[in-house]
Amino acid sequence: MTARVLVVDDILSNVKLLEAKLTSEYFEVVTAFSGMEALGKIEDCDPDIVLLDVMMPGMDGFEVCRRIKCNPKTAHIPVVMVTALDQPSDRVAGLEAGADDFLTKPVDDAALFARVRSLVRLKMMTDELRMREATGQGMGLVDPATTFAETQVAGRILMIEDRADSAAWFATALRKDNDVACVDTFEEALVRVRGGDFDLIIVSLGMRGFDGLRLCSQLRSLPEGRNVPILVVVSESDRRKLHQALEMGVNDYLTRPVETNELVARVRTQLRKKRYADRLRHNVQLSLEMAITDQLTGLHNRRYMSRHLDNLIAQAERTAKPLAFLIMDIDFFKKVNDTYGHDIGDEVLQEFARRISANVRGCDLACRYGGEEFVVVMPDTDVPFAYAVAERLRHSIETTPVLISRAPGNLNITISIGIAGSTGAADSAEALLHRSDQALYAAKRNGRNRVVADAA
Ligand code: GH3
Ligand code: MG
Ligand code: MG
Repeated sequence: MTARVLVVDDILSNVKLLEAKLTSEYFEVVTAFSGMEALGKIEDCDPDIVLLDVMMPGMDGFEVCRRIKCNPKTAHIPVVMVTALDQPSDRVAGLEAGADDFLTKPVDDAALFARVRSLVRLKMMTDELRMREATGQGMGLVDPATTFAETQVAGRILMIEDRADSAAWFATALRKDNDVACVDTFEEALVRVRGGDFDLIIVSLGMRGFDGLRLCSQLRSLPEGRNVPILVVVSESDRRKLHQALEMGVNDYLTRPVETNELVARVRTQLRKKRYADRLRHNVQLSLEMAITDQLTGLHNRRYMSRHLDNLIAQAERTAKPLAFLIMDIDFFKKVNDTYGHDIGDEVLQEFARRISANVRGCDLACRYGGEEFVVVMPDTDVPFAYAVAERLRHSIETTPVLISRAPGNLNITISIGIAGSTGAADSAEALLHRSDQALYAAKRNGRNRVVADAA
């Protein structure tokens, strides 16, 4: 794995040392010698991770970190504080500024590479989501998921630890702000994660009864566990386990003896990130839905119909079942707009869409094909049956006036419908559309307010 690392330190030899270590592992290194320079480089170079010295003249590392995490454009970039300080209070100050982790000077190679790799890997997972979300935003479909900086971060936490005293300590420390559940067996942990809606899982790697690492790897492979952050608790002497856990993709760790404030700060960071990723995922889902939906009527749009029609035709051929295609057009719709205004025209289109939905089955695909033209694709339906459905719809439109929000309060409209059925292996979406369009044209020509089926 390669990544671009920004190394920030006011002392040249410190920068050179980290640069040499990282370059030897094939990371691309960018450097900065002050907080201000670092903020500029972040905008210009888009690093995957920042290694940030704490004590620098002018703007110190905490302040730089705060600014990175407050800026929606850079908040997703992981920051590791590189510091000579190693008091719990300094770590908490760093975490509160938004830091993702710490390395103590002199920097240990194994710890450096493990942390950089793990944080970059985690970042790449959200990068993909961020990119897709940005596309949705660019299309004007969704509002941005903004930053991690959220105040309300209480969450549902699952604590996995089979030593009762340790489990009780964690539960007490976290219960004030969160909803904490504790389990002490492998099986129960899996069951809870499968069924549960957890925001964070904490796994002790020092359990007596079973291997916490093996559990982490299983949790990661569960569909319900894949997007839940995992925080492991490891003893100071167990570096090997920690590196294995990081390799496996756990999100963060705590070393025993655990300090309450640090626990609370790290939990809060993970909950914030989870919430941010959830929002991204939600927005991506939303923009997918919006991209295939007609905004005025809520029916599927033409783009979706075109794509899906090919699948439906292929399926009809494969299963040797009929498929019917209806194209519908409001008669003299231009007159509705001209007489009552475009907004009333829109109301008529919306009501027409509702009537269509009410008259077709769940498995039928109803779409707004464009303007005042609508299409319904009916799987497993022959032309005579489709004709009956079309006739029912035509009749309902003709006999039940559309209510409108202005005088005269309701309007009488009529529609014309063309129908075609799939003709088997040689048929195509294009040909089917063409035949139903011809039938619609015939309906218009023969006086409108009628249904015509293609003869094929
Ligand atoms: P015909 O019976 O031959 O179908 O006549 P028509 O007037 O319905 O057909 P024409 O194609 O001449 O006009 C369709 C009108 O639909 C013209 C256009 O302004 C209107 N239209 C298209 N999209 C919309 C829309 O989203 N909202 C509204 N209010 N009108 C629309
Ligand atoms: Mg310094
Ligand atoms: Mg029309």
